[in-house]
Amino acid sequence: MTTLRFNVIEKAFQTKPLDVPVPKERPSEYFGKYVFNREKMFRYLPANVFARLADAMDHGAALDRDVADQVAEGMKRWAMELGATHYTHWFQPLTEGTAEKHDAFVEHDGKGGMVEEFSGKLLVQQEPDASSFPNGGIRNTFEARGYSAWDPSSPVFVVGDTLCIPTVFIAYTGESLDYKAPLLKALRAVDRAATDVCHYFNPEVKKVVSYLGWEQEYFLVDEGIFAARPDLLLTGRTLMGHEASKNQQLEDHYFGAIPARVAAFMKDLEIQALELGIPLKTRHNEVAPNQFELAPIFEECNLAVDHNMLIMSLMRKVARTHGFRVLLHEKPFKGINGSGKHNNWSLGTDTGILLMAPGKTEEENLRFITFVVNTLMAVHRHNGLLKASIMSATNAHRLGANEAPPAIISSFLGTQLSRVLDHLENAEPEELLSLSGKHGLKLDIPQIPELMIDNTDRNRTSPFAFTGNRFEFRAVGSEANCASAMIALNAAVAEQLVDFKREVDALIQAGEPKLSAILQVVRRCIKACKPIRFDGNGYSEEWKAEAARRGLDCETSVPVIFDNYLSDDSVRMFESTGVMSRKELEARNEVKWETYTKKIQIEARVLGDLVMNHIVPVATEYQTRLIDNVYKLKALFPAEKAEKLSAQNLAIIDKIAEHTTYIKEHVDSLVEARKVANKIANEREKAVAYHDTIAPMLEQIRYHIDKLELMVDDQMWTLPKYRELLFIR
Ligand code: ADP
Ligand code: MG
Repeated sequence: MTTLRFNVIEKAFQTKPLDVPVPKERPSEYFGKYVFNREKMFRYLPANVFARLADAMDHGAALDRDVADQVAEGMKRWAMELGATHYTHWFQPLTEGTAEKHDAFVEHDGKGGMVEEFSGKLLVQQEPDASSFPNGGIRNTFEARGYSAWDPSSPVFVVGDTLCIPTVFIAYTGESLDYKAPLLKALRAVDRAATDVCHYFNPEVKKVVSYLGWEQEYFLVDEGIFAARPDLLLTGRTLMGHEASKNQQLEDHYFGAIPARVAAFMKDLEIQALELGIPLKTRHNEVAPNQFELAPIFEECNLAVDHNMLIMSLMRKVARTHGFRVLLHEKPFKGINGSGKHNNWSLGTDTGILLMAPGKTEEENLRFITFVVNTLMAVHRHNGLLKASIMSATNAHRLGANEAPPAIISSFLGTQLSRVLDHLENAEPEELLSLSGKHGLKLDIPQIPELMIDNTDRNRTSPFAFTGNRFEFRAVGSEANCASAMIALNAAVAEQLVDFKREVDALIQAGEPKLSAILQVVRRCIKACKPIRFDGNGYSEEWKAEAARRGLDCETSVPVIFDNYLSDDSVRMFESTGVMSRKELEARNEVKWETYTKKIQIEARVLGDLVMNHIVPVATEYQTRLIDNVYKLKALFPAEKAEKLSAQNLAIIDKIAEHTTYIKEHVDSLVEARKVANKIANEREKAVAYHDTIAPMLEQIRYHIDKLELMVDDQMWTLPKYRELLFIR
């Protein structure tokens, strides 16, 4: 019998790696080929226009209409030379992914023909007919529309025949409807607050930049096999499937040799990413079979976020030309590692100082400690919010499961840095600070070896780990827009730095010397943020109990975790930093709850279909065959012997009946539970109902399906199994 399952598997095994045409130039020559970067701006724009645009990019200066027109003209000329015929405002609505609406560069020429035209007005602002994007009630179809506005701090680029213009997406009443607008506000807030604090140490600093280096994990599966799994196709994860006899136990996949087909895909992806100005640097196998990772060199946060959005769509596209599908879901396979997106985050000054890296002098180290401790304070004060910022229906499968950080935010510092903080906390003030002649105050901060950057004892179980010159926020989901985590983190750090400065300034006003004032507040913070520091095993049961004792947020229900956005502390923080208003936060939460509900709802429907169209029919058919066998044994042999011979089959027949009955009954209850939940009008309550009653049923039903998978004749099973999905040759 050849079923679709066997056909697609055979085809997958026969698929050969694609020959990737490698550009003749070196990467340094084709890097940014499709990006309107400074070098191209300089070439395509008049000198005075270039200067005005540079000012807008670096300092957020406004562009007047005349300048915008000339910028648009230069961009159009450049893009058309690359074959572009269309342009689009490229924005990041509150769904996953990006949105774009393409328009051609054409206008009537007034003589019955056409001209290629692109004005500053079209570059700077557009009104996408976007009433169907989620907006949490800020803007319904009949209200004022939203508009997208150019973000000059992220350069435009060409994909295929289209000039893509990174934009923010805002309601006419000013509320943000996307990720980019609040991100830019959070970055501005942390810039201001951190620059102020830097001035204690380096008065010449004018700007502090937030950096992000993401590491993107993903799975690849053969496209044909993928298409034979409706659950993967429609939900991005397997809703059923028994573990393969071998998966990651041998740990032979991590850093192992990359299969030829995958290597060809990676090569192709890298070339295209570099051409789009994404500075990819690292690629390797990950822990699970078919799991891989890629990472660029870190960049300014806003650009890094755009580049991550761009790489995710590029991965999806390039994978298909190689006969693969890329899975960005955080947990596509049960019992096998999920995928995350580590967000390496740090702050740096325009004068070239990395603020999260230890320095050489004691004063440099006090600056370093100041920024580390303020970060810890921010994470402590807003640990629930930070968790909410990375939470989703899909990431929930990864967090809390055994091989991923639990749904508790804590920070790992490593022994060296912990020792320094302990010393600062416990030493007598006069030990730390002494008057030393004409040099004024002398600091006694233990030397922090620079080697630490490479030597930090890695704790892979920590969701927010210090790694030498940065913090690594590991709880971010592979599918997520990094902006969500970066908005919360940068805004929280901004708030904390403002509070820190207020306290230090008050002490200075009261006559305390500057360094002593800083040291006092730092010591206070070290004590206050202690509950967030945890260097032990974050996956252990003891930690869960300990975290609860420490007062950390231990909630595991996704819809309830979202409440953190609306707590008094969060609203105060977002409003005081100018990042988001209460109204915006409320609207965005509506979207989060609604999205959560829809995800579970879709999974429930797909599972119902799988059960009725695949699982139960196949199991019943196999069962019938066994029954047939039992009857024939009876006809052939004396009663006693027949009974003995058919005992095994009778047991299986019975088991199959048990499982299929359970499954059918529970699919019926699932439908009923959905009907009840769907009647709930309040989005939060509905999401809670979906979380509490419907999501667990999916798991219960799955258990019985997976048992059947082990029982039923392999030849009859219609859906590709884990072992077939997970081992690319
Ligand atoms: P890992 O050992 O965690 O895989 P990598 O060396 O692959 O670490 O680096 C992970 C990411 O961290 C890369 O994107 C890298 O550019 C980024 N990174 C390195 N230093 C910093 C920093 N100071 N700030 C932000 N990101 C950084
Ligand atoms: Mg890492």
